Amino acid sequence: MHDSTRKTVIMGSGCAGLTAAIYAARANLNPLVIEGHEPGGQLSLTTLVENFPGFPEGIQGPELIENMRKQAARFGAEFKSAHVVSADLQRRPFTLNLGAQSIRTETLIIASGASARWLGLPSEQALIGHGVSSCATCDGFFFGGKEIAVIGGGDSAMEEALFLTRFASKVTIIHRRDQFRASKIMLERAQHHPKIQFMPNTVVEEVLDPAKKEVTALKLRDVKTNKPVTFPASAMFLGIGHIPNAVMFGDQLDRDADGYLITRDYVFTKVPGVYACGDVQDRRYRQAITAAGTGCMAAIEVEKFMEEHGK
Ligand code: NAP
Repeated sequence: MHDSTRKTVIMGSGCAGLTAAIYAARANLNPLVIEGHEPGGQLSLTTLVENFPGFPEGIQGPELIENMRKQAARFGAEFKSAHVVSADLQRRPFTLNLGAQSIRTETLIIASGASARWLGLPSEQALIGHGVSSCATCDGFFFGGKEIAVIGGGDSAMEEALFLTRFASKVTIIHRRDQFRASKIMLERAQHHPKIQFMPNTVVEEVLDPAKKEVTALKLRDVKTNKPVTFPASAMFLGIGHIPNAVMFGDQLDRDADGYLITRDYVFTKVPGVYACGDVQDRRYRQAITAAGTGCMAAIEVEKFMEEHGK
């Protein structure tokens, strides 16, 4: 069964989606926010956020998100705990299939984010926010003078490792192979950095120590010799890629080779009335503030679209 047609639906409740919700709600568009499978997005997985303007002492990521949610709700945004399984964007109103229910909407703001890829180890999951992180820009500062491990062999891992040298006494890049996907320039920059060392052909089997609620060491295995190693470290940063949450649109929207939505003029997709903002379309900046910025842009475009279509 369909609800009545909405003026706008926002897919995603991270920084981009909630900023879009604040703007759309204040424009009397009565937005419905579909919260998605990671409510609050990546900010809800981090601890202290010190680079979001307006908080001189920093603010906890979950608190920042909760504030944004309250701000959107105050102006009339509605929230629904569900995720979009598939969508029909061929004709307006668009139809979003939420599994048990479908929703029709005149416009759509896609703010479904990109989920960090994790190793999937239970000990890793238990220590997210307590020394395990997927965002060096967010959490690197907390490990001043400490030894840090970075996992991965692509540009993200090199970039995270190079960034972390600002704080860490030593950064070790642990990679499962001895071939690197990273661009030559990034790899060489990391290889020549005096604080960075490489540990190729090595996989992480366990992160210690969930009982202490902090990272004390990694249990590693050399894949060539099968030898286990316990490697002391105070933090583990994952740089093994992100997965943009856009598969539900299939080929109705343009995506790049890694699945990120392709936008023009910041937030326009190829379908009029469908806008994308935040990490689902941004592989370059991936910051809370840039996500909020494009969320604002998407909501303003929805407002203009509705005006132009006499709604
Ligand atoms: P990526 O190039 O796909 O590299 C991911 C790395 O993680 C690979 O080394 C991969 O190992 C490893 N990996 C994946 N799953 C793993 C697992 N389960 N366990 C252990 N290791 C795993 O991803 P990315 O580095 O995020 O880069 C994505 C794109 O963004 C690239 O096009 C990149 O150039 C671009 N980017 C550019 C910049 C920059 O220019 N400043 C910065 C960041 C990203 P294998 O190689 O063995 O598969």
